Order: sequence, then structure tokens, then C-alpha cells
Amino acid sequence: MAGLDIIHSQVISCTKCDLCKTRTRAVPGKGNSNAEIVFVGEAPGRSEDLRGEPFVGAAGKKLTNMLEKAGLSRESVYITNVVKCRPPNNRVPTEQERRLCIEYLNDEINIINPKIICIMGNTASNSILGKGEITKNRGKTIEKDGRIYFLTFHPAATIYNQELIPVLEKDIQNLVKALDEIKNA
Ligand code: URA
Ligand code: SF4
Repeated sequence: MAGLDIIHSQVISCTKCDLCKTRTRAVPGKGNSNAEIVFVGEAPGRSEDLRGEPFVGAAGKKLTNMLEKAGLSRESVYITNVVKCRPPNNRVPTEQERRLCIEYLNDEINIINPKIICIMGNTASNSILGKGEITKNRGKTIEKDGRIYFLTFHPAATIYNQELIPVLEKDIQNLVKALDEIKNA
């Protein structure tokens, strides 16, 4: 199987959908290739598009803080998105963009083979599990096709609604607990 570096170079030069025409840089996932946890967001925003790295803007700052509070460093995990190029004005990626791009996410996950995958927000939940309603499903652990998923809000949601900060923090702490249970099982 190809390595992460091969997937990353495929992403960087990808022209499978029209987002390649408006992006500055494509944004492959980043982090530990032996990560036990993979975090999946929606698509790059403005800062990510400029830097070519996931979660380096305001939402990324929130995510980094929450990881640290749960005892996780960014270097120990792998962080990626369903769609690797920024949709214009940060619109939600279309069904077609998600379908074309999710191959790269599947490759990243198959290469890393994490113990648990943290789905952040409705777009990732819809794309990976075929269901949205993150408000109803957050905090849950779900098994599908031999993989274990943990669902929570997208960190950007906490920028607009500060009341969600402790909820997301608690979720990430529970994600770490779920990982410990998987490892001890
Ligand atoms: N929001 C996302 O979903 N992904 C990023 O990389 C940044 C913001
Ligand atoms: Fe390729 Fe995904 Fe970028 Fe579309 S969004 S051009 S499928 S890497």
C-alpha cells in the first residue's frame, strides 16, 4: 500500500474537482503516521488554504487547546478533513466534492489504521457515517465496517457559541477514555 507521503503528493497536485481552480494550496492531513486517533473536520478555511496545513486558523487554535486539555499533543495525533481544498467563501462542500475527495481520507485512515476516529461536525458525520444530527449524536461511539468512530461538534461551532466549549472539551476527554477502553479490551 502507498504511504502517507504518496497520498499527500496526490492531494497537492489533485485536479479531480473544481475546487482545484480556486484553491491556493491543497491541504493534506498532518500528524503522526502511527496515530491512535485521527481527527476529521470538514474542509480547509482561509488560513489552511494559505498555509497548506489543516486546522491552523481560529478553529485550529480551539482544537489545539482542547487536545492539550485532554493530554493530547497535536504531534501525537493525525488531523485531516473530508475535503482537502477550500470551498469558496467556506461554503459547505458539495456532495460531489465530498464523494471525489473522500478517497484520500479513506487512504489516510487505511494507512494509519487508528484505534478510533473522531468525527467533528455534521459534514464529516454525513460523509463518513451517512448521518448528520451531530447535536443529537455527539458524545457517542459508533462502530461501522470494523472501524470505531467518536462523534463531536466541529471546533468552529465553539467560536460562535461559547457555551459549546465545555461540551467539546468534555467530549474530547471522553474520546481519550474510549481509546483507553479499546486498548484495555
Ligand atoms: N475547519 C475545518 O473543517 N478544517 C480545517 O482544516 C479548518 C477549519
Ligand atoms: Fe482533489 Fe479533493 Fe482538492 Fe477536489 S477537493 S481537487 S478532489 S484534493
